[in-house]
Amino acid sequence: MPVKLYTGKGILEKHKEQLAELGGRCFVITGKSSAVRSGALADIQRIFEETGTEYEIYDGISVNPSVSSCIEAGRKAYAFQASYIMGIGGGSPLDAAKAAAVFAANPELDEKGLYAMTWNRVLPTVLVGTTAGTGSEVTKVSVLTNSEGRKKSVHHDLLYPVLAFGDPAYTASMGRTLTLTTGTDALTHLTESFFSKKANDISRACSIEGIRNLIPLLEKAADHFDDLTEEDRETIYNASILGGMAIAATGTVFPHNVGYYFTEEYQIPHGFASALLTDDLLSFEETCDREYADAFYERTGISHERFRKLLRKVLPEYEIHLSEETLQDILPRWQNNGTVKNTRGDITSEEIGKMLRRKFPETE
Ligand code: NAP
Ligand code: ZN
Repeated sequence: MPVKLYTGKGILEKHKEQLAELGGRCFVITGKSSAVRSGALADIQRIFEETGTEYEIYDGISVNPSVSSCIEAGRKAYAFQASYIMGIGGGSPLDAAKAAAVFAANPELDEKGLYAMTWNRVLPTVLVGTTAGTGSEVTKVSVLTNSEGRKKSVHHDLLYPVLAFGDPAYTASMGRTLTLTTGTDALTHLTESFFSKKANDISRACSIEGIRNLIPLLEKAADHFDDLTEEDRETIYNASILGGMAIAATGTVFPHNVGYYFTEEYQIPHGFASALLTDDLLSFEETCDREYADAFYERTGISHERFRKLLRKVLPEYEIHLSEETLQDILPRWQNNGTVKNTRGDITSEEIGKMLRRKFPETE
């Protein structure tokens, strides 16, 4: 994991010289308001003034960012002659900053070229997280929405940021729902990574430590949100980073990719969409390799039942009914999919179909 990651309260101020070393022109990429609401932008602007850094802000990134907004941001950064790009926000602005860094260094590139990987240079990127979920700060993945409205990610070693900052104080402005959707995303990363064919001792250690710490705090956030302390926020944030490190090594497995469909079609936030089939993943893994699944429950200290209870508590009841026609239409998405192949136990798209029929029956 090649990212220089610094975490803790007031962390930007402590590393301002490292920012200055990246050159005097920073192009900042954010969503509409979280950079301001979290307090991160004000801290950065103060540092830019102190270090004499010129900057321009692009705040046009929406959730599930479009490739076209990244092209626009990248071309603006090129015109500004930025020496580096800074993304501030949740996973959406962070992922957009990674892609914009590609377009800024390759201003002729279009969407097709981005996905075809016909590029081999990027501007340096610095990421400042304001949610505690995606772990995008430490991954080489940028999840974007293409011109057909499909969520499609780009993976490339050059997409790792050079620096990332995780000040848990920036996550304090998240309300209950956002804390739970993003925290659930972290939980699914930690869990899916454990059941990836690429899991190894180190990634599993990240998964176990992250889940042990995260689950009690997600339970607390769900039941007594106002009691969450600064320390709790820090623990949740660090669990999200452990999740990012775990999936940076292993990738995600099928529930994440199935979740993309539910975000595209029903606008379900990424974290909740990714968790729709987490319970089914656990049941499936128990049938494939009971010993491995039991080791997961033992080492995390969390039973399947406790997992299920938490998921039931945080996930809203979605009024979704999938017709047989819709299923026949969407199941081919998971026939040759990398995350499906990456799942321990060789799951098939037919089995995913059974899970979806059970969860979202055609009639009430
Ligand atoms: P997000 O989409 O970045 O933001 C969701 C909402 O939260 C936005 O309205 C945002 O406001 C707001 N927000 C952000 N920080 C806040 C704060 N501190 N206080 C109050 N509101 C705040 O959410 P996310 O869940 O972090 O990111 C999801 C995206 O990341 C998805 O596209 C997902 O596919 C992707 N992802 C990427 C990776 C990876 O490895 N790269 C991994 C998992 C997920 P603004 O609109 O104002 O910003
Ligand atoms: Zn995710």
